[in-house]
Amino acid sequence: MVTVALYGLEVDDWNALEREVVDLFTALLRVDTTNPPGNETACALVLQDYLAGNGIASTLVGESPQRQNLVARLDGARPGPTLTYMGHMDVVPADAGEWSVPPFAGVVKNAYVWGCGATDMKNQVAAEAVALARLKRSGADFAGTVKYAATVDEEVGDHCGVRWLCRNEPDTLRSEYLVNEGMGGLWLQVGGQKVFLLAAAEKAFAQFRIRTRGRGGHASVPEKERSAVIDLARAVVALGLYDPPAIVSPLTAQFIDAVVTEAGLRARLKDPGTARAAGADLRRLDAELASLVEPLLGATFTPTMLDAGKAVNVIPTRAEASIDCRILPEMTAAGTAELVAAVLDPLGIDWELEWIDSTTPNASPAPTALSESIARVVRGDFPDAVLAPMCSGSFTDSRWVRERFPDCIAYGFAPYVAESFHAMRGGRDHEPDERIRVEDVTYQALFFERLARELLA
Ligand SMILES: [Zn+2]
Repeated sequence: MVTVALYGLEVDDWNALEREVVDLFTALLRVDTTNPPGNETACALVLQDYLAGNGIASTLVGESPQRQNLVARLDGARPGPTLTYMGHMDVVPADAGEWSVPPFAGVVKNAYVWGCGATDMKNQVAAEAVALARLKRSGADFAGTVKYAATVDEEVGDHCGVRWLCRNEPDTLRSEYLVNEGMGGLWLQVGGQKVFLLAAAEKAFAQFRIRTRGRGGHASVPEKERSAVIDLARAVVALGLYDPPAIVSPLTAQFIDAVVTEAGLRARLKDPGTARAAGADLRRLDAELASLVEPLLGATFTPTMLDAGKAVNVIPTRAEASIDCRILPEMTAAGTAELVAAVLDPLGIDWELEWIDSTTPNASPAPTALSESIARVVRGDFPDAVLAPMCSGSFTDSRWVRERFPDCIAYGFAPYVAESFHAMRGGRDHEPDERIRVEDVTYQALFFERLARELLA
């Protein structure tokens, strides 16, 4: 008799795992946790039921009754370090008219699980919970502790979720190692190898408004010399098309080595003097890969909102644009303001900058015991796999944990195995028809179980 094994499991065991993961995952997707308002407590109660059914006690903690975080811990048989599995339960708004299935129905169709939160990130929340349950059922024969946190308010507020936990219930997240979301786990085929992204650092945002001033008056008498609107338009075009001087950090150079196969292009990308032009070449060759590399070469300036005038026949005296700016861990908000001045001062317009909000960039080192354990587990199934530590272009709740616990190693990682980064066209977060292969979310549960065993051996 031939025994077929899937990722080291007998078929029956894989099928049982798949059922368990999909049941919990679809139950989570069926709770509408659109933020705002969130209403994550209903989702936390589904998790609490599931964990209780597996003999794991959990606690709801939070600022308001509708927005409770769920935290749990599983102590191993021997003393050792603590590994926290974290994930947020809230999702961004979905426009049902743009979806081919109802976004909150938890549909399983064509080998995919569909729903708002399918990749961002109820998949990981479910997979991590199933991993915890499997560890418990097998006797928790590891060293140290696995903590679990299903959190609220990541997508918009950042108020009553991880930041709140770090301030008010720090013990729930205190740990040596933490795994969360953030690009990590997506993979690219590079040469003959699977290269898995590992999100070790994150860009921060430094969002600001540009305000221009000019002479007002009747629109029948055009004001071309000192028009707030025309000057703002010039500022928006200049900033929106601006590529600041490239910075190639050691982490980014290492990442370029891991994902760019062509030697000449690789060398030009790593040289700050040629990196911008090489980025444009990469975009023509492989737009998805460029979307990973180009944002890591410096600050980005994206104009997103414009505001001027109250009536079509009145020239306004002021106009403003909001700019979403993302900066590298090597940069500061003050340095960013200097870049803006270098772009806008030569225009000879009357402008001022007002900060909207900014965060501090942060990073965890790599390699560490955690990244080495991740690599060993993935290589158990893909012997040639390579882990590529990188700086993620967007930010996650990991920043609150790194700020509160500077010694904690926090990475974004949840491995996809069936569908590649390119097949997913760079990922499906925040998109209509957000979906994940059943095989991928099932593997993620197996991975989180094996990672705990490997790291806490
Ligand atoms: Zn997310």
